[in-house]
Amino acid sequence: MIRTKGRACTGKRRHDTEEQAEEHRQRLIAKGGVRLTTYRCRNRTCRGWHVGHLPKPRT
Ligand SMILES: [Zn+2]
Repeated sequence: MIRTKGRACTGKRRHDTEEQAEEHRQRLIAKGGVRLTTYRCRNRTCRGWHVGHLPKPRT
């Protein structure tokens, strides 16, 4: 088991591919989570994809 440092990873579901992350994102959106995005993890020990929140747009 790998313990990862850094906030990008902790508590987040990890996906091997963008497709899997996208699928997870769609599920979260269906549950009411808007403004979600998939992004490639920066963590070298992870190298996966995560679903995160988009920053608020400027109004
Ligand atoms: Zn990660």
